[in-house]
Amino acid sequence: MAERALWVTGRLGLHARAAANLVRVANQFQSDITLKRLDNSVEADAKSILSILMLAASRGTELRVLAAGPDEEAAVESVYDLFVRNFDERVLTESRQTDTKEEIRRKGLGVSEGVVIGRVLRLQDGTRDVYRAEIEESELERERRRFRAAVRLSRRQLEAIKERAEKELGRGHAYIFDAHLLFLEDAKLTRDVEEYIVKEHANAEWAAKVVGDRLLSIYMQINDEYLRERGSDIEDVIQRLLANLSGEVRGHPNLSDDSVIVAQDLLPSTIAELDLNHVKAIATDAGGWTSHMAIIARGLGLTAVVGLRNFYHRTRTGDQIIVDAQRGEVILNPLAASIERYEFTVHSSSDAFRSSSSNVSGPVTTTNGVDISLRANIELPTEFESVRRFGACGVGLFRSEFLLSRPGMLLSEDDQFGSYRSLAEAAGADGAIIRLFDLGSETGYELSDRSERNPALGLRAIRFGLKNDEVMRTQVRAILRATNFGKLSLVIPMVADVVDVRRARKIILEERELLQKEGIEYVEPEIGAMIEIPSAVLTADKIAPEVNFFELGTNDLVQYTLAVDRGNDDVSDWFRTLHPAVLFGINRTLKAAKDASIPAIVCGEMASTPAYAVLLAGMGAVDLSMTPAAIPRVRSTLEQIDTTEAAELASRCLECASADEVEAIVRVEFRNRWPELFPPKALPREPEGKDSDEVGL
Ligand code: PEP
Ligand code: MG
Repeated sequence: MAERALWVTGRLGLHARAAANLVRVANQFQSDITLKRLDNSVEADAKSILSILMLAASRGTELRVLAAGPDEEAAVESVYDLFVRNFDERVLTESRQTDTKEEIRRKGLGVSEGVVIGRVLRLQDGTRDVYRAEIEESELERERRRFRAAVRLSRRQLEAIKERAEKELGRGHAYIFDAHLLFLEDAKLTRDVEEYIVKEHANAEWAAKVVGDRLLSIYMQINDEYLRERGSDIEDVIQRLLANLSGEVRGHPNLSDDSVIVAQDLLPSTIAELDLNHVKAIATDAGGWTSHMAIIARGLGLTAVVGLRNFYHRTRTGDQIIVDAQRGEVILNPLAASIERYEFTVHSSSDAFRSSSSNVSGPVTTTNGVDISLRANIELPTEFESVRRFGACGVGLFRSEFLLSRPGMLLSEDDQFGSYRSLAEAAGADGAIIRLFDLGSETGYELSDRSERNPALGLRAIRFGLKNDEVMRTQVRAILRATNFGKLSLVIPMVADVVDVRRARKIILEERELLQKEGIEYVEPEIGAMIEIPSAVLTADKIAPEVNFFELGTNDLVQYTLAVDRGNDDVSDWFRTLHPAVLFGINRTLKAAKDASIPAIVCGEMASTPAYAVLLAGMGAVDLSMTPAAIPRVRSTLEQIDTTEAAELASRCLECASADEVEAIVRVEFRNRWPELFPPKALPREPEGKDSDEVGL
């Protein structure tokens, strides 16, 4: 046995990174190496990061290192050296230390309005509800293998995150993932979980949760604030393991009055589950303008900045934060001066939206006498009341899949019926168009247990409905029953061509007949098709005679026409709503609808933007559906324009070769013709380093 006295000199004590270094050094030796506190005799295995951290050795703690084995002398010397060199950590720990106090500004994409000062509430991606299951003796080995597979998957994920963090933030910030990796592989965690599975005949999720909670509770008692905070790293790792083990969603923590939700990504269902009276804003690493999370945030009037990349990992629950959706910026741990500056301008977007509600309703009439209907896009029952508040001509699009608040959980026919009935009653005389479930992993719901390589091109929307016709039949029956309480129509999402329409119609007709046989009354609903993929655009003239109306989903139309994932901020520069190829698709669809004398409702996010709404009107659109809060703004724009002027501009845009060219026309011409309607901020931004007048004009 070899031993030597040591003491902790670093200001942060034996913190995560130092402990990680110690484990790395200790693992180079065969001997067993123990650290012992001299004041309370607590011991730690120097090859286990969790064990070391639980020593809670803050600055000044006296320790003894003991080694027993073939290379014990060398082991003790190496550990001693590491302590003397202060773990080679001086620069990094100092930078970390100042970081926690430093004001951090990060640019993202503001997807709604408002400025909010609040406190961070981290929602860990994939935090799960965990249930206990009894595992049979014969299945225990399988359960352990399942756990090991989750550990391997978590390791691969963490290595990838670490690599990216290193590239984007530098080595000093990526270290935390070293610690996560060590937690993950620490025998204390893995061995305890496996032992628990075997001893208690428990499922892996439950075992990981129990062991994780046990470790956390020990951690929470540590008397050193910095070390105690590292508990959230253990929590991160456990949540990652649970996410990789199971498919459940989690319950949410209580929210304080000024909560700002910070997450890597948010499922729309997660937003739906939050107590929105307390959430002031949202800031996420992922997301783009048309991601569903952004659409919902706008719909609910929540201040939101998305696309912040790697921001989540720099925050801690309770940190102060400013979310400025106007500038698309967040400020973590703001300095007093920043807070002061913001306190002048702070107003939450919900307040802004509330004050912009309108007493006017019905269609808007342009200066040359064209009537344009403005309808509401709705995702959640909490928004039903905004139909009236913003003077919408009914509901142009009800994204019904948001009723399903948990992945994999469907609602019964009666539960759905209740929601559709309330929708029908809220929508008024203009009625509501219910979209059949647009389910798929992009929407955040996967009812299939297979993950898809390419979900946006996979089994989603009507494809999912046709393959799982029981799901579709239940929904259709619920909608038909609700037609007795107000005007309801039904729209089929993401049809590829008329065959999808026919197959869906057949199911709808069969359910109608069944209801008739059962003596259940209903009113014949109109049936429409969502035109949002290029094959449907190109065959729109063949689809039109077989439906009562079209709905143009411009969000997906941009995504599929330009092959740009709408939720991936790495390619957001290519997501160009004003690309001539997109305009061409819209124009062609509007014409096909006109030729067949059926209405075409433009319901993507495009219609919510006043300048784009003018172009749509120029292409002949007379029916727009949008985020309810955008209606007053679009209304006051359209009532001041002449659609013949808009048509002239639209036809010039349709001749362009690129989105830059279209945007340049819009920028210059809108500013010249309607200067009071379109200040520069309301127009597409000038490309960097270019003079707009040079571009394609
Ligand atoms: C669209 O694609 O434009 C649309 C309206 O539907 P969603 O955004 O829900 O895909
Ligand atoms: Mg769509």
